[in-house]
Order: sequence, then C-alpha cells, then structure tokens
Amino acid sequence: MPRILLHVCCGPCSLMPIVHLRDEGWEPTAFFFNPNIHPADEWQKRRDAMREAAVRLNVPLLEEGAPVNPGRWSRELNGILRPGERCRLCYRPRMERTAALAGEHHFDAFTTSLLYSRYQHHEAIVEEATRASVKTGASFLYRDFRTWWWDGIAMSKKLGLYRQKWCGCILSMKEALAQQKEAEEKKAAQKAERAERLAKEAEERRRRKEEAAAHPNKRARKALARQAMQNAATNKAPLP
Ligand code: SF4
Repeated sequence: MPRILLHVCCGPCSLMPIVHLRDEGWEPTAFFFNPNIHPADEWQKRRDAMREAAVRLNVPLLEEGAPVNPGRWSRELNGILRPGERCRLCYRPRMERTAALAGEHHFDAFTTSLLYSRYQHHEAIVEEATRASVKTGASFLYRDFRTWWWDGIAMSKKLGLYRQKWCGCILSMKEALAQQKEAEEKKAAQKAERAERLAKEAEERRRRKEEAAAHPNKRARKALARQAMQNAATNKAPLP
C-alpha cells in the first residue's frame, strides 16, 4: 500500500482527508506542523484535538514545532498583512517542511488537510505545495477535499473534537474577534429596533382600544343629549 504524509492543520480538518485517502488505497501518516497558530494555548488545543483525531481514526501522528512567537511571525511577514498574500507565506514553510519530511522518510507522496478548508486560499496552497515538491523532489498529491466539507463538520461534532474560531495567526484572531464584535453589535441593534417597533405597536393597540371603549359612551352621550333636547322641546310646547 502506498504511504502518504498528510500535513494536518487541526483535528476537524484532518478527518475527511484521512478517510478519503484510505478509501483510495493510501496509507496516511499525519504530520502536525503549524508554527502560525496563536496564542500558545490555542496551539495546544489544536494539537490535542489532532491527537484525539489520530487516536479515533487510528492513524500515526508525527508532530513538530511549538507555539509561535507572534512578534517574530509578524516581523517575518515584512509588512505583508493582507489575508491572501500573508497566507501564501504561511503555507510555504509548512509545505516545505512536509515535503522535506516526506522525502527523508521515503513516503510515496505528501498532501495537506489545508485543501479541505473552504476558508483557505486553495490555489495558493496548491502552488506552494507544488513549489515545495519541485524543491525537494517529493511527490505532491492534489485532492480537493472541500467536496466533503459538511461530512467533515458532522464527523468532528460527532467525535466531540475542539473546533477553532479563527484560522491561526494573531492577525486572523484579531479579524475574527472584530467580525464577532460587529455581528454582536448588529444583532443588538436589530433587537433594539424590534423592541421599539413592538412598543409602538402596543401603544397603537392601546390607543385604539381606548377609542373603541370610548366610542359607545360618546354615542350614548349624543343620544342622551338628543333625547334631552327632544324632551325640552316637548315640555316647552305652548298649551293649546
Ligand atoms: S489567516 Fe491563516 S493561513 Fe493566513 S496567515 Fe493567518 S494563519 Fe496563516
């Protein structure tokens, strides 16, 4: 059976690649190497989730690296902060190290669970993996694991794996927190708008109810006044 080194970014994203590579007849070994993840406890949570996934799917797991120093990582970006551009620089060392390790351990090919995520820059990953392949001589196996996106989510929930809220780096964490804050503010504004509308509607209903309640009295008052006028007219009539 051909052996493949599967770079894994986290537990949830590793599931479908492992399952479907096996379906194709590959024997995968997972390789957790993600020096981009910030902060340290987040790196540990993802590493632990990957360990859990490896146990549950009975796949060998290699690990390398440690939580990143965010200051050093930012400096290495050299001011390239836009998501598409910085992500390419983030894929590069991970693909290069995976390809090098695949060569050192005589794997038949390498690939990555990054190709499972709909949130990653798929083409840039393919280009960086191909580049690493050319550089090291290790074969890169391209697969579009995004096909099984929903299956992967369902399986990770079923296994109870930790599911992260941001891609990895400190910049993606800040972006995710800003998006979350924006969504919460929008939700709060919608809630306040709804409460105001409901209050206005309740006030309108109350006013109409009062009017309706007052209406018969008004009519009765008018009828009584009419009656009184008729009575007065009758009483004042000159005697014949
Ligand atoms: S957003 Fe994700 S892929 Fe892009 S640089 Fe940050 S950690 Fe890397």
